[in-house]
Amino acid sequence: MFNQNKVKMEKSMKDRNFNMIVETEQLINIQGRNYKFLFNCKSGKFSQIEIFNGITWHQITKDGELVGDNWDLPMVSCEVVKKESDYLKIETVRKTDMWRINASYEVFGSGYIVCTFALEALVDQAFIKPLMVGVSLDEQTVFSRPHRIMNNTNNIKDIRSIRAISIDYTTDDRPVTNSVNFLLESVTTNMNNRACEKLIEQRSGYRFIGWQLSKEYNFPFPEGYRYQNRWALTLTGLDNSPSNVRGQRIYHYYGLWPRFPSNDMLEEMAEYGCSILALHNVSRYITGFEPDEKEMRRVVNRAHELGMKVISYCQPYLMSINSPYYKHFTDSRTECLRIWHCLAETQICCYEPLTDWDCDELCLRSEKAYKLIHDGVIEFYRKYGTDGLYIDFCWPAQGLCNDNRHGHPTGLFNFYDYLRLIRQWRKDIDDDIMIGHGGGVLVSSDFVEGFDACLTGEAQKELDPITIGQQIGVAPTLWTMQRAKEDEFRSVATIENLVREGVTPHVGVGVGGTAIVATVDPAHPVHLMALWQMWRAFPVEEATYYNYLTEKVLSLDNENVFYSLYVTNIKQVLLILANSGKPAFEATPATGVSVKIDVRKLGLPSQMNCWRLKGATYETFRIAEVPPVNDGSIDVPELSLHEYIGFVLSPSDAPMELTRLMRHLEGRPERLPAILKAKQKRLAEFDKKIDYFATLPNAKKEMDIALFKRNDRVAE
Ligand SMILES: [Zn+2]
Repeated sequence: MFNQNKVKMEKSMKDRNFNMIVETEQLINIQGRNYKFLFNCKSGKFSQIEIFNGITWHQITKDGELVGDNWDLPMVSCEVVKKESDYLKIETVRKTDMWRINASYEVFGSGYIVCTFALEALVDQAFIKPLMVGVSLDEQTVFSRPHRIMNNTNNIKDIRSIRAISIDYTTDDRPVTNSVNFLLESVTTNMNNRACEKLIEQRSGYRFIGWQLSKEYNFPFPEGYRYQNRWALTLTGLDNSPSNVRGQRIYHYYGLWPRFPSNDMLEEMAEYGCSILALHNVSRYITGFEPDEKEMRRVVNRAHELGMKVISYCQPYLMSINSPYYKHFTDSRTECLRIWHCLAETQICCYEPLTDWDCDELCLRSEKAYKLIHDGVIEFYRKYGTDGLYIDFCWPAQGLCNDNRHGHPTGLFNFYDYLRLIRQWRKDIDDDIMIGHGGGVLVSSDFVEGFDACLTGEAQKELDPITIGQQIGVAPTLWTMQRAKEDEFRSVATIENLVREGVTPHVGVGVGGTAIVATVDPAHPVHLMALWQMWRAFPVEEATYYNYLTEKVLSLDNENVFYSLYVTNIKQVLLILANSGKPAFEATPATGVSVKIDVRKLGLPSQMNCWRLKGATYETFRIAEVPPVNDGSIDVPELSLHEYIGFVLSPSDAPMELTRLMRHLEGRPERLPAILKAKQKRLAEFDKKIDYFATLPNAKKEMDIALFKRNDRVAE
């Protein structure tokens, strides 16, 4: 086993800075990785927005129509008051004799705008015209192809409605290329202290998406009347640039008995090429800090010695009702009490009774709650020298907060402090790993700030681009390889779909409860272990990723074969092919495929050295140097059902990763017997443990898995 102490990966963090800001008296032109904003200093509003769809740019706003509020008041002042590499703040004042609007626009390098605005009546009997905030989206660009508008009701009972107006759409024949979200902070407070109404209005050549904050029939307002609110517009699109997480080999240790993986288990994980170990239940009260110190140090140190990165579970705003500091924060909660609980009635989560995870929700507008969570997680990260964060519950607070002790109006939908927290964590950990755990209903604004990847495939029904959130601009991941869920998330076919969609799975390991299949065998998904070796043989984190959703750089003559293609900037290539078996596999269980990589488009040399990667398990996996590839043509004579094959191409030497893996595999026959012996001992011990768990009342309870997976759940 090779040793590798904590070594940072080649800097591959996505560039979250602006590419360009140009200011003139008339316009402020702001460009980032996947967006272009034009701010008009005369109107005090954004006038044009373009988004990158992974291949081309598209203007999504309608010329001459509004982005922001609909009041046209003469400009008094417009000034850039703060300018950083990834943050810009523009302050505007607009005014008539009757009204003044102060609006502050914060533009974030990750691709979103937050506007905080206040309007004030300057005279008694101040009449108004209807006030709306929103964005005018071009009909042809956004709505002429299949699209999905979510959360478009204003039903407070429907908790999804609070979070955002979310429009997932495609600009071409791909299933989904982009997402635009519009969010409002005080959703229950309009200018008359009534609920704001969501608006989706079809007009000539565009649709206005936003919120109505006052109506025509309003009575005039008295002098000094003040109204304030905050909106955000977030933009995301397909993104195949290098990711710290895509193609990584991730174990997700969720065990409760014990809470930490044993050394022999860590050693087995390293043998198979684990590169990231996510520790799930090490902190007793969910918060993400306060583990067993000795055990935590053992696991982090051993994992680092074995060349694995360690990331640890945390979340932005849950507080266990059993934590020792709970009583000090009861004034910092939202009304969403017991927002997460262990289903004490059915105990489908845990074999032994457990209420440490019964949580209330904290309001991040409460500074002491914000500080507890922010500081606790970062102190933990620094104290134990982990390599990043695994952030569960990664969406703005599900419920509205009505507690004005926190310094906000009633009905707060607090996206602002959620994004502030995630952004701050990102700055704290620099280019270490940050995985967000979303779950059910995808709203891309949840993921807009700072993540390298998002787990979106835990509560989904299908592994398709819309449900796994391909439009959110980060590499999708899923943690379901052993969960008692749909076939789609645990079968061999899943692995082929991972190749097709560019999704990175987390392999669950541990013993929890009957809802999660108990195993302490890291090699449980045997086919995946072979795919892991293909990723392991290549610097995947430095590579641009291509599949059927990206720019087309590859053609193949068999539609039943799925592919993933990784290309680094030094022109090394990893091609993975998988026989999906669909739909013609009964006639031809084994099939051939001819692949042609577009070497001109990718700027590759016409002849490249080639290594073939093959095998259906770790034990059978093998690497062979084969004749060089000319003009990107690769012929595979035989690929059986549910089999996959990989090719590494290089203009000169093999990638360092491939050479290192070949050396590692040379010692495999000598190492495997000891690994097998330790595994057998461990499994035998845990079989006894499972036998014991089976005698406990919880295991005998009727488990309502339908409840656990019910359709209206928003996440897990
Ligand atoms: Zn609050």
